[in-house]
Amino acid sequence: MANIPEMYGSLVFNNKVMRDKLPKDIYKALRRTIDNNTHLDKDVANAVALAMKEWAVENGATHYTHWFQPMTGFTAEKHDSFINPIGDGEIIMEFSGKELIKGESDASSFPSGGLRATCEARGYTAWDPTSPAFIKDRTLCIPTAFCSFSGEALDKKTPLLRSMEALSNIATKVVNLLGNTDVTSVSTTVGAEQEYFLVDKDLFDQRKDLIFTGRTLLGSNPPKGQEMDDHYFGSLKPRVSAFMHDLDEELWKFGIPAKTKHNEVAPAQHELAPIFETGNVAADHNQLIMEVMKNTALKHNLVCLLHEKPFEGINGSGKHDNWSITTNTGVNLLDPGKTPAENTQFLVVLLSIIKAVDEYADLLRLSVASASNDHRLGANEAPPAIISIFLGDELSAILESIENDTFFEQSKRIKMDTGATVLPHFTKDTTDRNRTSPFAFTGNKFEFRSLGSSSSISCPNVILNTAVAEAFTQFYEEFKDVPSNELDEKIRNWAKTTLAKHKRVLFNGNGYSDEWVEEAARRGLFNFRSTPDVLPRYIEPRNIELFTKHHIYTESEVRARYEILLENYNKTIHIESKTMVSMLNHQFLPALNNFATSLANSINAKMTAAGISSVAENKLLKKACTAYDTIYERVAKLVNDTTYAESIEDMLEAANYYHDVILADMESVRSVADAIEHLIPEQFLPYPSYEKLLFSV
Ligand code: ADP
Ligand code: MG
Repeated sequence: MANIPEMYGSLVFNNKVMRDKLPKDIYKALRRTIDNNTHLDKDVANAVALAMKEWAVENGATHYTHWFQPMTGFTAEKHDSFINPIGDGEIIMEFSGKELIKGESDASSFPSGGLRATCEARGYTAWDPTSPAFIKDRTLCIPTAFCSFSGEALDKKTPLLRSMEALSNIATKVVNLLGNTDVTSVSTTVGAEQEYFLVDKDLFDQRKDLIFTGRTLLGSNPPKGQEMDDHYFGSLKPRVSAFMHDLDEELWKFGIPAKTKHNEVAPAQHELAPIFETGNVAADHNQLIMEVMKNTALKHNLVCLLHEKPFEGINGSGKHDNWSITTNTGVNLLDPGKTPAENTQFLVVLLSIIKAVDEYADLLRLSVASASNDHRLGANEAPPAIISIFLGDELSAILESIENDTFFEQSKRIKMDTGATVLPHFTKDTTDRNRTSPFAFTGNKFEFRSLGSSSSISCPNVILNTAVAEAFTQFYEEFKDVPSNELDEKIRNWAKTTLAKHKRVLFNGNGYSDEWVEEAARRGLFNFRSTPDVLPRYIEPRNIELFTKHHIYTESEVRARYEILLENYNKTIHIESKTMVSMLNHQFLPALNNFATSLANSINAKMTAAGISSVAENKLLKKACTAYDTIYERVAKLVNDTTYAESIEDMLEAANYYHDVILADMESVRSVADAIEHLIPEQFLPYPSYEKLLFSV
């Protein structure tokens, strides 16, 4: 048995290693940089680089890399070895402060949304000292931000750091104003729960759709899906359990606090939740979690599917972004305390978040939009595309009393009586769970539930931080000159008006119901059903203004991101279409034809031998032939339309075409193929069925 506390963080250049390895003054200077965002000078950088290299080499590393997150949504790395020739065929292992702080690479093949012409290929990576370096596969990985020659952000980390700083600056002013003058900074805390599927690798390798697109494009539903609710929290199968143990240990070595694991609703679906960390570290760690999941699965001859909708007809996978704000004095600003009604600071923070979510609901929706997540949002398995907030009974009652100027009586926390005397009695949580809400208050944090399983958590956090920073800014501007003896009264009035204006975004009911869609429309809430619907909101003037005001993005950076998202959407569906055509033409139609031929041969043989013929066999043959012809025709239309889609120059127009025409074409082919698949004997099927994929691990 491994010694877990010893193993935990063994591959990380963490605070303990820094303290042990660095001279005292250097350690202090580095801490100042990390804790207070101060500039790091050259001597310190050199000393840190030396210590890092020594530690890395002691732990088996031969290379280093600037580890960054380009807008592909994945991580990128280019490895350089530490070796430096010193003549006579000898080398030493070297790593300088300069190499630690700054990297330069030809970055012309990363998406830039037109920010950087290919001729200006230079990209820079810059060390993020707030996220610890680690060793992966014998390489020292240094978390970095990635920008262009002219300083524009080309990655997911830079805006996240900018948004955290913007939020920290203004939130500090707000809590200072409310009397907590010892607070000098705040940071966001984030815990991202991660869902995924596991399938057998031998089966995966036989499916082009899984290989090329991450999801199945064809396949009829098995006789049993998730309707028995027997998989959710079910006991773990040995192979899955072995994978999870391995995964936990790998993550712990990286200092990732993996905490909870369980089976999810769908067959072959699982979840992992780490303990929350500072926003940008949580974002880095979520990227690592996804990578380690995939690699660890392979060791068990499994493939980890992170796609949002790997299988039609059963639940897809999401990611829950648990988010809160904590002061440097250790106070969680979303902790209601024992008497939330009297906790002015809590109510100011809560109402500011409500205002932020209502005012920038379009951006929040956009931050989770992708071709793959479109399959989930609004279907009855994931929160609806309408952004609303669930507060639960107690907070709702408090807000109601503010609105109506009535006295709120703190409910005693109710003792839970389980009805069996041998069981311990415990107090009930003040908020129940509501799985259908996209943005739910869960006791001392909000849980943004609309994220897709495969995407980086950076963008949703950027939007959340920025929108809340804006709400805080407005609050601060209104109250900064109010004498302290008038503050309470005035804040009460502010709370009333803020609530009246934004309570339309509060909804405690069933988000999956059709009534809510109608009700939300009456309330004037946005309902963006698809990615092409919502993406243009990125470049709405008021949204560009939000980003530029808080120095999150320049206007050209926003436009670049808009273009990248559109392009990504179009390419994703283009690849899906081509993969589907290939599977149908090269695999499914020939298989169907073989089946039909075998039926025809059998009919002939029986007729010749005994002059008899089976009505069923004839019917089946007819069905197979009809399906063959229909699929053939519909594939031809899909091919034509896809060729046309590629020729559309305007990217938004193309996106709408991919959504309205290509996806519909694909659906119309699939429906025929899936229906006939039910009738084809297994030996004719050219690739493993849903049944095998979902129930064989
Ligand atoms: P569930 O959503 O299944 O009820 P939990 O309540 O266990 O799950 O918590 C989900 C996630 O929320 C975990 O990653 C946990 O660390 C995180 N979390 C708890 N408190 C905070 C906080 N103050 N800020 C951010 N995340 C938090
Ligand atoms: Mg959750």
